[in-house]
Amino acid sequence: MTIDQFNFAGKKAFVRVDFNVPLDENFNITDDTRMRAALPTLKKILADGGSAIIGSHLGRPKGVTEKFSLKHILKHLDELLGIEVQFANDCMGEEAAAKAAALQPGEALLLENLRFYAEEEGKPRGLADDATDEEKAAAKKAVKESQKEFTKKLASYADCYVNDAFGTAHRAHASTALIAKYFDKDHKMFGYLMEKEVKAVDKVLNDIHRPFTAIMGGSKVSSKIEIIENLLNKVDNLIITGGMTYTFTKAQGGKIGLSICEDDKLDLALDLMQKAKEKGVNLVLATDAKIADSFSNDANTKFCKVNEIPDGWEGLDIGPESEKAFAEVIKGSKTILWNGPTGVFEFENFTHGSRSVGEAIVEATKNGAFSLVGGGDSVACVNKFGLASGVSYVSTGGGALLEAIEGKVLPGIAAINE
Ligand code: AMP
Repeated sequence: MTIDQFNFAGKKAFVRVDFNVPLDENFNITDDTRMRAALPTLKKILADGGSAIIGSHLGRPKGVTEKFSLKHILKHLDELLGIEVQFANDCMGEEAAAKAAALQPGEALLLENLRFYAEEEGKPRGLADDATDEEKAAAKKAVKESQKEFTKKLASYADCYVNDAFGTAHRAHASTALIAKYFDKDHKMFGYLMEKEVKAVDKVLNDIHRPFTAIMGGSKVSSKIEIIENLLNKVDNLIITGGMTYTFTKAQGGKIGLSICEDDKLDLALDLMQKAKEKGVNLVLATDAKIADSFSNDANTKFCKVNEIPDGWEGLDIGPESEKAFAEVIKGSKTILWNGPTGVFEFENFTHGSRSVGEAIVEATKNGAFSLVGGGDSVACVNKFGLASGVSYVSTGGGALLEAIEGKVLPGIAAINE
């Protein structure tokens, strides 16, 4: 079933959204992108004359925690939807069930943080540090048992299930995947956001126009090995940048000063270079760096060759020669995937490389390329530089996007398609 085909009139929909928004110390929302992203789905349900029972997580609570209460976002949700959304102080219990049952067409109910219950994630909580393996296994079994009841209860509130939380699609949690089995094929569907995400991932996995270039930045090779290995089977050009650069430079015998480096991954870096060669992939690494004499925005800086970084200095961004080389590859591409900055873009003085990558992607997109930007920090980059509207798609998923591109089946997607 697709959301466009479904008429929600008179129906109650359990909608799993990702309202895991950043809050400041006074509980003000500092970035409501995720809430806005779910609006088309919620508005369609309400406009059809359906009612929405909205479930989400916020943060990583280990139980009921005031700081992670979804009541902090209720007022803003009212403003975004233009209605007064009701709130259930507990996603379980009589209040939630009664409020869900009493919902009228066009009304919405926000449930309290689903992760206040260990059952949402299905992971035991509160185990003593010295718990034995048997105790751990018993606790796991217990939470898996009670997870069934939890999931069933959530499902009982509604006639249909809509998953619009791409950010958690890689988790087989109660509300993101397990709940789907309580609804038949005609009563479960992706929301609009999820549909768009699935389509965008499909384009870079299965509908590739060449040349295909992936730009992988960020701090650590170890966190991106699987995706890099999978991409080697797909791309024509692979730009590896950001903090990962220096592991590759050191592996090849270069001098990297104090630059970030995973010394236990030097062999892996060489191995990836060899694999790229065997597969005919053009692996592009920085040749110069913007270096700093301390890890700070106010550090003294200069440019140097990436493999000649003096003692006491560290590479915090790429240099102009690398910018030019990266931009050339990007501008000649027809499919582009960007994940991770070229440098410590949180410091204004080290944003130049990431900005230039973003600008090259925008130019390639203007010339007909399909560009997908995803993973927390690259999204922050395109937003910071005002380039989001110039790329084809900005994914809301970090881990979920990366796992999808690694070629993994995401439980949240599989549960709808089953
Ligand atoms: P990741 O979470 O692995 O995607 O990495 C993103 C982080 O990598 C950002 O916070 C950047 O500041 C950091 N990063 C990028 N380049 C460097 C670098 N040259 N040195 C240290 N950190 C970096």
